[in-house]
Amino acid sequence: KKKAKQASKAKNVDVKAATVLGAGIMGGGIAYQSASRGVPAIMKDIRQEALEQGMNEAIQLFGKGVKYGKISTEKMAQGIASIKPTLSYEEIKHTNIVVEAVVENPKVKEAVLKEVEEVMPEDAIICSNTSTISIDRLAGALKRPEKFCGMHFFNPVHKMPLVEVIRGKDTSEETIASVVAYASAMGKSPVVVNDCPGFFVNRVLFPYFGGFTKLLRDGADFQQVDKIMSKKFGWPMGPAYLLDVVGMDTGKHAAEVMAEGFPDRMSKEEKDAIDVMFEHDRYGQKNGKGFYVYG
Ligand code: NAD
Repeated sequence: KKKAKQASKAKNVDVKAATVLGAGIMGGGIAYQSASRGVPAIMKDIRQEALEQGMNEAIQLFGKGVKYGKISTEKMAQGIASIKPTLSYEEIKHTNIVVEAVVENPKVKEAVLKEVEEVMPEDAIICSNTSTISIDRLAGALKRPEKFCGMHFFNPVHKMPLVEVIRGKDTSEETIASVVAYASAMGKSPVVVNDCPGFFVNRVLFPYFGGFTKLLRDGADFQQVDKIMSKKFGWPMGPAYLLDVVGMDTGKHAAEVMAEGFPDRMSKEEKDAIDVMFEHDRYGQKNGKGFYVYG
């Protein structure tokens, strides 16, 4: 509580321009969200085709804004022009926040974070959009861990309001306040959490998925469970459809991290629905078949 109070009082750095590392599903979405709310973004990747894909995604999202009368064509042109794709670190030095969204591999992330810290001015803030890797572990690769924290967006970035701002043991309150302010400027609802496996959302979601597996074992029909949770209980979707959106590979990896982090509470004695779907190559929407069939 004391820390939360300090965070609300700490002075934040005004984010004028951002760098997003990685132009994949998340990086592209984060760059779009930032630019659409008036904070220019440089999108850096190591592959030209990823940059092109990221730009196309942003252009499509701006296009939808125009189509549905939310923004003018002028605003769309301004927004698109304020995202700059690049393969070079040279161009990012003038930005004051970096959001790392490269592949979920601790070694790759550590190397990329180290590299970017070398390039950036000393007062720049660096965050990671990791879903599962400990913020303290990643901070261990850095010279300025006080300037580092987690900034965890959800997919699809332009639709999902929540951003988890994850405080590592060395993160300064100014860093937290700055990232909270940046997330708010992006139109998101930030929540500050301490570093732990699963942060906040996955600590709620995975026990829910566990409960869903138990229902299936008891003979429940997954479509009926989805229908009740969405149509009757009022959630946007049920657990089976949600797992198809998340992807079984991502879900399996996150479940393993949770079980390792909370062996007493999150270990599994037998396979759960995610494991079984994974074993049958039913990854969800990403390969066209999960609980449901797509395309
Ligand atoms: P992705 O595979 O779509 O994109 C990763 C991008 O990183 C690729 O374009 C790749 O070329 C690029 N990259 C790899 N090495 C790089 C480097 N050294 N420098 C710059 N770019 C590099 O992955 P994604 O789904 O966008 O996930 C990115 C991060 O976001 C991961 O940490 C993931 O856990 C997290 N995340 C993903 C989701 C999701 O639903 N996809 C949700 C929340 C958080």
